[in-house]
Amino acid sequence: MNKNKKKYLYIPMAIALLSIVLLLIFNIDSPSKSDKLYVDFMKDIAAKKVSTVYVTSSPKIKVKLTDGNTYETDNPRTNNFKEELLKQGINVSENSPFSPKQAIPTFLLSASLVFMAVMTVKSSSLSSKKLKGVDALDVSAVSNAAYTFNSVAGNEEAKESVKDIVDFLKNPEKYNAYGARMPKGIMLYGEPGTGKTLLAKAVAGEAGVPFYAMSGSDFVQVYVGVGASRIRQLFKKARSHGKAVIFIDEIDAIGKKRDGGKTGGGSEEKDQTLNALLTEMSGFNEKEGIVIIAATNRLDTLDPALLRPGRFDRHIEINLPDIAAREKILELHLKNKPTQDINIHEWAQKTSYFSGAKIESLVNEAAILAAKDEDKFITNLHIDKAYSIVLAGYEKINRDHIKDKDKKITAYHEAGHALLTLKVLPDDKLSKVTIIPTSKGAGGYTLSIPEDKLYQNKDYLKRRIMVLLAGRAAEDIIFGSDFITTGAYNDFQQTTRMVSSMITQYGMGETLGLLNFEELSHLNYANTDNIVKECKTTIDNLYEEVKQIITKDRELLEKITEKLIEKETLLDTDIEEIAS
Ligand code: ADP
Ligand code: ZN
Repeated sequence: MNKNKKKYLYIPMAIALLSIVLLLIFNIDSPSKSDKLYVDFMKDIAAKKVSTVYVTSSPKIKVKLTDGNTYETDNPRTNNFKEELLKQGINVSENSPFSPKQAIPTFLLSASLVFMAVMTVKSSSLSSKKLKGVDALDVSAVSNAAYTFNSVAGNEEAKESVKDIVDFLKNPEKYNAYGARMPKGIMLYGEPGTGKTLLAKAVAGEAGVPFYAMSGSDFVQVYVGVGASRIRQLFKKARSHGKAVIFIDEIDAIGKKRDGGKTGGGSEEKDQTLNALLTEMSGFNEKEGIVIIAATNRLDTLDPALLRPGRFDRHIEINLPDIAAREKILELHLKNKPTQDINIHEWAQKTSYFSGAKIESLVNEAAILAAKDEDKFITNLHIDKAYSIVLAGYEKINRDHIKDKDKKITAYHEAGHALLTLKVLPDDKLSKVTIIPTSKGAGGYTLSIPEDKLYQNKDYLKRRIMVLLAGRAAEDIIFGSDFITTGAYNDFQQTTRMVSSMITQYGMGETLGLLNFEELSHLNYANTDNIVKECKTTIDNLYEEVKQIITKDRELLEKITEKLIEKETLLDTDIEEIAS
């Protein structure tokens, strides 16, 4: 329970304690003073001094005298006791006498006990929205404009991809006037610490709207229904302010692919929470100016329902920073600190595969060291020490230690793809070559935009296959056939699919000629041995051709590789420059 709620309990607790003390005092005092023997009571009756007797089932009965004094005496428990008294003209009451001294504390005690009980039950009950809702989770909007796109170094493409959202949040009317449907949900995906949260904050900051943040794990509860209710609370709260950015970190906690009921109890809760989220998302319209940004490390583990149009339909990948971006991140985090003689460029080089968060922690660690030594400035020396601390502190499974050797292999591999694109598919625009790993597990990638055409001819398909084979071919030529790596796994998946389609579906092979393999299988006419053989021969021949091209142009391969190791990401302009 939240601290604030606890305060409410202190008051009834204090009252209850006080009441107990009062009751004890009164109970200790009163009976001892005024107990009388039964015989004395009989004497009082005889003397007509008794006005009322309170007959209850307790062992003692109370007696009120005509002079107003009261005392207690033993309950005779005879059957006609009441009748006897009535005959003597004495009032008989079957309730205990009203004694404000005891009644008030008793009343207070009961009231406070009831109050505490209600509060406790309420706070653990599922239906209680006030306590279990967003309030209890401290979701308050952060609407400081402290975060802007300038707080996010690098990630230029991602920033570009959200600029229209900022504009939309600033004035939704403009977009409505054109009938433009803006995305309700944006999915940021990529390695942890790459600045997804930062970017979401920057969107809110740039647009000047409140920022509501929660994590997917906040919604995952033992009790069914709590997560869903929290989602509704979150949206209600955000909508009460008009425009807003709602950020849900670790969306996988509620939006993981459903695995056919394999997970036991928790899955119903997750489904309910996910459904509540989807319902809320379809519940508001585009005009409201609410944008939901979610973040995940892996896009492929998410429930496809989340990614459909009208939901999180804009997907933006946030990659680890390349050398230029790392330099900017270092600069940003060193900016307002006293520094001297720090070679930022050198540190950008040494921090390959560091995330933004890790660079931030490197700088922070260096600042702590400088402060501890009471040095005037943070220097290269401090960063050097911090570097070992940070490297040791982070788990090895992170790809930080990718050795120079691995970086070199990736660089040659990608350079092979790039070179072949230049040589055999000059019309496909080579837009990006990088050795920065993607969240999809590739060590690097080469992106080319294929020429736009309706049909792909046999020659083109063969050239595409050659480009795909070139990664492995480059490794093979440079490092030797014993040192080829697993890095071409995905390339071979694609080439195998392509070559088999050519032979079995497109009528481009020898074995089947113009026959369609699938139709033949239905008739049980298919024999796969020869088809596999032809696929293999085709690939082998193309592979030889690729190796020849690379060997002939090895100089260019080396140049691309060298630049890749230096800059980690090459854009079309860089490649043109190298190739010219
Ligand atoms: P994610 O949400 O992707 O896990 P965060 O946005 O929480 O990452 O990043 C954590 C911290 O790392 C940020 O607060 C910031 O200090 C630093 N950081 C990460 N990426 C960047 C970046 N591109 N530019 C500046 N700082 C960054
Ligand atoms: Zn490859």
